[in-house]
Amino acid sequence: MKLVRYGRPGKEKPGLIDAQGRLRDLSQKVADIGADQLGDAALARLRKIDPASLPLVRGKPRMGCPVAGIGKFIAIGLNYADHAAEAGAPIPKEPIIFQKANSCIQGPDDPVMLPRNSVKGDWEVELGVVIGSRARYVSQKDALTHVAGYCVVNDVSEREFQLEHGPQWDRGKGCDTFGPIGPWLVTRDEIAHPQKLDLWLELNGRRMQTGNTRTMIFSVAKLVSYVSQFMTLMPGDVITTGTPPGVGLGMKPPVFLKKGDVMRLGIEGLGVQTQQVVAFRR
Ligand code: ZN
Repeated sequence: MKLVRYGRPGKEKPGLIDAQGRLRDLSQKVADIGADQLGDAALARLRKIDPASLPLVRGKPRMGCPVAGIGKFIAIGLNYADHAAEAGAPIPKEPIIFQKANSCIQGPDDPVMLPRNSVKGDWEVELGVVIGSRARYVSQKDALTHVAGYCVVNDVSEREFQLEHGPQWDRGKGCDTFGPIGPWLVTRDEIAHPQKLDLWLELNGRRMQTGNTRTMIFSVAKLVSYVSQFMTLMPGDVITTGTPPGVGLGMKPPVFLKKGDVMRLGIEGLGVQTQQVVAFRR
């Protein structure tokens, strides 16, 4: 299933994308797509609904983040060997974990706003993993059974805030609008091989990032297991799993976001995001 939330910010309704790619309204069946709908039993109930029985949604409404009420938004740094090389960083021996403030989460096509005094805004297409059931000290073997599904994430970053103010990254990762998620939450039954997905990003129509999840240093299963050794993962938590090469910081000379830029990014089977970059406003 491809689950979505659509409509005005804060007023999103649940929906699904049918086999013909049309948006259908799920609001008569569930209140929202959030923690209560992400477990295997709840997803199985949704799967039993005939999409043709759901009302078609007219027009092209705004898409919101496909998961409501995300608790933790956890990110993994330098998880592609070739990206670590372009960043001039050694290959991590253990996953690098940081948090993106959940106040940065927004819809996949909402504008990205450069924060006040930002001069080094950057992009990172990433595979997002949505947790479906509580995971605490899970083994790598069992890890994927705790995953509800997958989505596209742009781990928008401010490199000066991230790298030039001290050793931790969070201040350059959680600025307002730095967490576009969606358009779809694709349930894990539709993604047979999470380590075989192409991912890409274009800036103003020019291809910047081209990668495949097969070159991850730590697999999705490893990451879910690893993070669960340090904190309990809850339904509706999201782990974004690192970016392939081609970020602005790695260019020679570096390229950073400016007002008017357009980012377009996607992952095989998970849909496409488009964001216009806008200047800071209160
Ligand atoms: Zn990242």
